[in-house]
Amino acid sequence: MNTSYDAIVIGCGGVGSAALYHLAKSGAKVIGLDRFPGGHDRGSSHGDTRIIRQAYFEHPDYTPLLIRAYALWSDLAEAIGEQLYFEVGLLEVGPADGIVIPGVLNAARQHGLSVDHLTAEEANYRFPQFHTPAGWQAVFEQHAGYLLVERCVLAHLKLAAQCGAEVRDGVSVLGWRPQGEGVVVETSAGEIEGRRLVIAAGAWAADLLSHLALKLEVRQKHLHWRPAPAAFSAERCPTFFFETPVSETRDSETRDSETQTNFFYGFPQLDQRGLKVAEHTHGEVLTDPLNASREPDKKDTARVSQFLAKYLPGAAPHDADHATCFYTMSADEHFLVGRHPRHEQVSFAAGLSGHGFKFTGVLGEALKDLALNGSTDLPIQFLDPARSAAKD
Ligand SMILES: Cc1cc2nc3c(=O)[nH]c(=O)nc-3n(C[C@H](O)[C@H](O)[C@H](O)COP(=O)(O)OP(=O)(O)OC[C@H]3O[C@@H](n4cnc5c(N)ncnc54)[C@H](O)[C@@H]3O)c2cc1C
Repeated sequence: MNTSYDAIVIGCGGVGSAALYHLAKSGAKVIGLDRFPGGHDRGSSHGDTRIIRQAYFEHPDYTPLLIRAYALWSDLAEAIGEQLYFEVGLLEVGPADGIVIPGVLNAARQHGLSVDHLTAEEANYRFPQFHTPAGWQAVFEQHAGYLLVERCVLAHLKLAAQCGAEVRDGVSVLGWRPQGEGVVVETSAGEIEGRRLVIAAGAWAADLLSHLALKLEVRQKHLHWRPAPAAFSAERCPTFFFETPVSETRDSETRDSETQTNFFYGFPQLDQRGLKVAEHTHGEVLTDPLNASREPDKKDTARVSQFLAKYLPGAAPHDADHATCFYTMSADEHFLVGRHPRHEQVSFAAGLSGHGFKFTGVLGEALKDLALNGSTDLPIQFLDPARSAAKD
């Protein structure tokens, strides 16, 4: 193995594949390392689809990053010659005084985005396959939809390789250490030296940044495919996101049942397995994601079934398919992206908190800037990891 690189990228999943592409495209001599092959199903970037949207209820500062992200997804699709983004729209439903509806409207207002604000009657008329309860509201964002998640990762990796990047799977990274102004990465295939290091390790970020004591929690999430009538086909059905009262799906053993709200989301039916649906809230906390069970969880399945019976009554009561995936939650559920506070040759993205895929292209670009220039013009200051790192 060649042992001297301009940059080494740990992790070739969502963020790492994009960072590798942007670094290689800039002419840097780069290597990407991963335990698993591109597009694998053992991390956080699999399961066919991811929602992408701009009117961001979580925090309006994400919207400018999303505007850049949309342009980058479009460039990527053109460069690879495949459709990666499908603009089927997004229907968001919830109480008028909840978290989602006011948050979406606020982000849309601040950034001049066009969304349709609907009463329950209007939502039920326009989207009869969903049940919006009387007194609730809905927002429809047309310039939203889904990305094909594995295809995006594979596109970044393929184009990175075409630009000269080395992509090595089957390699476990055991650790890294600073060496002068560069780094040494210790792997199952020996040591590799580089001038810069980018860490994009998803659910394993805390292991590789352990000295920062980042507050990260890995949660197991379940995806369910349920057959449904033609009204849920991609020609007629948008992606969806519902905020529902916790009382509807509370069970006495649920660990975080103090949460006041549950979120469920999903995608139109793309094949015979049916529409895809999942709960965004909850999730079993894992200490060893590599060895986690990948079986369905009865309580999660029951909550999803309860949600469907009430809000998408046409969907089948049993799964046609199921998959598991990891959320890596930061303490405030916002990403941690920036330079390492003590080693400026190291940058990382961590804690994407279950909403990061749509940003992976733009985060890859930001990490390329940080690695090659030491700074970026992209507006990522609000994601500065210093807010979460141990101070000593
Ligand atoms: C069920 C589910 C639904 C989601 N829905 C959405 C959505 O609709 N919209 C959205 O925007 N986001 C969504 N997300 C979140 C989004 O998918 C993630 O935030 C994003 O994919 C994380 O990318 P990543 O690069 O951080 O992690 P990953 O893609 O998992 O990449 C990390 C990589 O690092 C490798 N790695 C780690 N440690 C080592 C090591 N020591 N040695 C070698 N290799 C290593 C791993 O093998 C892996 O390939 C969802 C996530 C899940 C799980």
